[in-house]
Amino acid sequence: MEKGFVHVYTGNGKGKTTSALGLALRAVGAGKKVYLGQFMKSGKYHEIKAIGQHLPMITVEQYGNGCLICDRTPQADDYAAAGTGLTKAKAALLKGGYDIVILDEINVAAHLGLIREQDTLGLIDAKPPSVELILTGRYATLAIINKADLVTEMTEVKHYYAVGVLARDGIER
Ligand code: ATP
Ligand code: MG
Repeated sequence: MEKGFVHVYTGNGKGKTTSALGLALRAVGAGKKVYLGQFMKSGKYHEIKAIGQHLPMITVEQYGNGCLICDRTPQADDYAAAGTGLTKAKAALLKGGYDIVILDEINVAAHLGLIREQDTLGLIDAKPPSVELILTGRYATLAIINKADLVTEMTEVKHYYAVGVLARDGIER
């Protein structure tokens, strides 16, 4: 069995989630088994639709209620949902038989206090040797960066968000 590594895609620039999705696409092409868990997200982002329609071999679980990042401060049910998500993520990592486990926006969930940094570090420690673990989201902490094998920081050089262009279907969601 090949050794699996820990990736972190962080930073303020665009490309963290799409990079993880690109990796998932590539992995499916290589016959690998992929799990995508999404903290704080729910509903049919277009990538989730595409997976459902065309790549059902990717297992998706969403751990959110509505769009937390967009419009509100965390409520009790957001903490509960993230806690449940953590349990699901752990099960996928340890018992799912996946080659690739992607935990999208886990860094933001920790940043907002929905989970603890220690929870993410614990997942990294518990990772079976052959699994490739991908952690995405702004605000990756130094401890997580230090534990990872590959860290890419997306740097925002320019983003049209600054001139009022919000998320568009098929481009940002
Ligand atoms: P992608 O999914 O396109 O790869 P990403 O995962 O790197 O992007 P996130 O940090 O998850 O990006 O941000 C997602 C959303 O935040 C986008 O829909 C975008 O419109 C919005 N956004 C981008 N820049 C800012 C900003 N400076 N402040 C607040 N929201 C932003
Ligand atoms: Mg993202």
